[in-house]
Amino acid sequence: MKSYRRELWFNTTQRREFINITQQVEECLRESGIREGLCLVNPMHITASVFINDNESGLHADFEKWLEKLAPEKPHSQYAHNGFEDNADAHLKRQIMGRETVVAVTNGKLDLGTWEQIFYGEFDGKRRKRVLVKIIGE
Ligand code: ZN
Repeated sequence: MKSYRRELWFNTTQRREFINITQQVEECLRESGIREGLCLVNPMHITASVFINDNESGLHADFEKWLEKLAPEKPHSQYAHNGFEDNADAHLKRQIMGRETVVAVTNGKLDLGTWEQIFYGEFDGKRRKRVLVKIIGE
């Protein structure tokens, strides 16, 4: 069995952002040389997500609105977590959007559905953060 590991780095300009990382993950898969197996993608941080959904800007705006309704960023004082930090909302948003995603690898390709794309969801950005890509198989 082969095993591949790579870190992708992101430095967002905004506090919250969705970044399509499908091509970068495909590049990792090509580099790995793995043809059959599983590809795990997860942030190495507790205020970010990796998730699969549609690459459609309206939907991304809907996610932003929906997450702000569920866990509004402000006022920061509404959260017990925000004693020394101001990112309680980011922890909650990440919990809803999930930590990681796993994609099947078939015939050297990510075995995604027609409209499925992989996104990095940042909820406490404006700093360097990394995403782990781990691929196992043969
Ligand atoms: Zn925190």
